Order: sequence, then structure tokens, then C-alpha cells
Amino acid sequence: MKLQDKFSRIIDYMRISITDRCNLRCVYCMPGTGIMPIEHREILSYEEIVRVVKVAAALGVRKIRITGGEPLARKNVAYLIASLRNITGIEDMSLTTNGVLLEKYAKELADAGLNRVNISLDSLMPERYREMTRGGEISPVMKGIEAAEKAGLLPVKINMVPIRGLNDDEIEEFAGLTLNTPYHVRFIEFMPIGAGDLWSDKRYISTDEIKTRVEKIGALSPVRLRRDGPARYYRLEKAPGVIGFISALTHHFCDDCNRLRITADGKLRPCLFSETEIDLKPALRTTPPPPDKEIERLLRLSIEVKPEGHNIHQLKDSASLRAMSRIGG
Ligand code: SAM
Ligand code: SF4
Repeated sequence: MKLQDKFSRIIDYMRISITDRCNLRCVYCMPGTGIMPIEHREILSYEEIVRVVKVAAALGVRKIRITGGEPLARKNVAYLIASLRNITGIEDMSLTTNGVLLEKYAKELADAGLNRVNISLDSLMPERYREMTRGGEISPVMKGIEAAEKAGLLPVKINMVPIRGLNDDEIEEFAGLTLNTPYHVRFIEFMPIGAGDLWSDKRYISTDEIKTRVEKIGALSPVRLRRDGPARYYRLEKAPGVIGFISALTHHFCDDCNRLRITADGKLRPCLFSETEIDLKPALRTTPPPPDKEIERLLRLSIEVKPEGHNIHQLKDSASLRAMSRIGG
């Protein structure tokens, strides 16, 4: 029987964080000193991830997104992609990355069966990019974007988090990229997760405001894409690319939420904004290994406790939540 929660939502999408480590330190995601890394032995092995996905696929999970931390900072990601791709039922595989190592791996990932990548890029200015990522260089990311396109990891999606006073003056320029490229440029509302002292109402910019700014460069027509997910898409006149808005805070996407997360240390997390987690590791690591039924039981349990939604007040108090790099953004 499929994974269906109490609110009749079918869960067919898993976001799997494969590491909590990262080669950048984005100011809105983690402290400059980084986050105490999870010990290696606590991180799920690729074999453990594959085992869980096999059980999940038999229960109707069709889409997998690999994330982190920075997923490409972990070795042999292509091996994991190929192993997951071979699982009966898995139809769509994507990966979220900061793009720093993408030039090196794009072709290998595509050959392994990856369908698409989302690349996080919060500034087009080298100096600002360096500041926002605390030391990152933009040119490898731009080369990574080109390599993804060349490797057929399409459509290339670029995710930008506008933050007032930091990079919001670049909203129009990011939107303008869709006039000359087929990219999907998506604006993600700044969330109070892992953002520490940077988070404040003043820094936060709502989707409505972002959209109004984009409309300064041209009228937007709504577009329906095959897999919209939580984004709402629009197109500027004659643009080959599209513009997406992902508004975790203002426009609830909970009603259609079809996802379940696995953290790098093996916790099933039914909602990004809820601290409820169910640990898979004890079941995966007992000897002799328990039957698939036990993993199925835990998957079903996590769906049972999946909350109907979150509310903005709860969110604004949640600055101490695990950082996004730990949950798997
Ligand atoms: N390292 C990869 C990357 O940056 O794409 C994958 C992990 S990262 C945690 C996933 C996404 O979470 C990125 O697009 C990042 O911009 C987003 N993110 C992290 N902290 C955020 C916050 N406080 N508000 C909104 N988005 C955030
Ligand atoms: Fe690393 Fe991604 Fe977080 Fe930036 S947003 S610090 S790249 S995990």
C-alpha cells in the first residue's frame, strides 16, 4: 500500500541529505566557524541509503533528490546515483548543489542517471558572492552551470535567496537571466532556519515583494510546468527561461506536500519545519539486519506523524532549528 498520510497526501518524493559538511559557509545557512560535524560513523552509508530507498520505492516513492550540506563534497556520488537509478520504481533523480564542484562531476552524474540539478547562487557579483559564501569563488560555479547544461542535466535550475540589504538589489538581474537562457531562476524566501543572528523581519522579503520587483522588468505570465513542486512559475514576454517563486513563509505549500526527508545521520524527517524525527539507524544497524518490514514500519510511522502544516509564528521562533545544511535543504 502507498505511503499516504492522515491528510490524504501521497508521499512519493524523498529528499536525502548525504552529508552535513560543506565547502562553503553561506551567511544565511551556517555560522562562519561551520557547524560541529556529525561523526563519520553516524552518517548513513550509501548501502544503507539504497536499502531504505528500495523499501520506499516499493511503497510508491518515485522521485529522489540528493542534497546536503554540499552533496558533491562527498566521494562517489555518481555511484550512489547509479545505485538508486537501478531501483525499480525510481523515475526521477535530481540533486541540489552549490555548483562549486559541478564542472568536474556533471557528465559523470548525468551518465550515472541523474536527471537534473538545482544550483544555489545568491549573487552574480564575484566580490559579493565571496562575502555571502564566506570565501567562495563564483567562476567555478558559472562553469558548473555550463557543464550541467552541456551534460543534459535539464532544465538547469538556479535558486536564489533574496535577503534585504545583502543581495536584493540583484533580483531584477537574476530574473533577467531568463531572457537570454532557458534556465529556471527560482527565488526562495529567506527562512529563519540556521540563519542565526542574520535572521530578522527586516531582512526577510516576501514573495509578493520579490514578484513586484521582477515585474519592473516586464509583465509576468503564469506558466504550468509538468512538475511544479512548491514553486509557482511565470515567464517574461518572449523569455526562453522561466521564473519560479518558492514561498515557504507566506504562501503555504503544505497542502500539496508530497515529501519526506532523510537527514545525513539517518533520521526520517516528515516536515522541514518540525523537529519530529524518527531514527532509522538502529533498525539499519542491528545484527542480523531486520527485515524490510521494520524499515517499512518506520517509514509509515514518519508519515503518520507528518504535520498538516506549519504556521509563520512557529517558524519565526525556530531560529534554533537544525541548520538547513543538517536537515538537507
Ligand atoms: N549545498 C547545497 C546548496 O547550497 O545548494 C545543498 C544544500 S542547501 C542547505 C539547500 C538550499 O537551502 C540552498 O538552495 C540554500 O540556498 C537553501 N537555504 C539554506 N538556508 C536557508 C535559509 N535560511 N533560508 C532559505 N533558504 C536556505
Ligand atoms: Fe553550504 Fe548549501 Fe548551506 Fe551554502 S546553502 S553553506 S552551500 S549547505
